[in-house]
Amino acid sequence: MPFDYDDQNIFAKILRGEIPNDTVAETEMSLAFNDISAQAPVHVLVIPKGAYTCHDDFAANASDAEIADLTRLTARVIAEKGLSTGDDGAGYRIITNSGRDGVQEVPHYHLHILGGRPLGRMLEKG
Ligand code: 5GP
Repeated sequence: MPFDYDDQNIFAKILRGEIPNDTVAETEMSLAFNDISAQAPVHVLVIPKGAYTCHDDFAANASDAEIADLTRLTARVIAEKGLSTGDDGAGYRIITNSGRDGVQEVPHYHLHILGGRPLGRMLEKG
């Protein structure tokens, strides 16, 4: 069971236009913007405009149209940033941190797109 949505979270404020963001791409249902504290040369966050907390909430409760839109906007950003595996084999990593053990800082569902340098192994053991 996903946790409750807190409409005071920072991404909700971005969506309401209460704080600025550096938009990369946008559709009616989704928004992509640069992470304020980039961990790689490309670090873009992709969020649904609807109030979803994490991946299991989004998968269970978003419409098929919202899920398709977020997925396709993510692919559009990957292509526009030159990260597609077909270009020069560049590649990228998509991360979605969820809940306590996932160390999710902002409780509005989001995907991190990371790329532009070799990203190392997925996780450290421990
Ligand atoms: P999480 O740990 O929840 O997966 O990641 C949240 C991300 O949001 C972090 O990478 C953090 O740098 C980013 N972030 C936090 N506050 C803001 C903000 O006000 N604007 C932007 N663009 N990114 C933010």
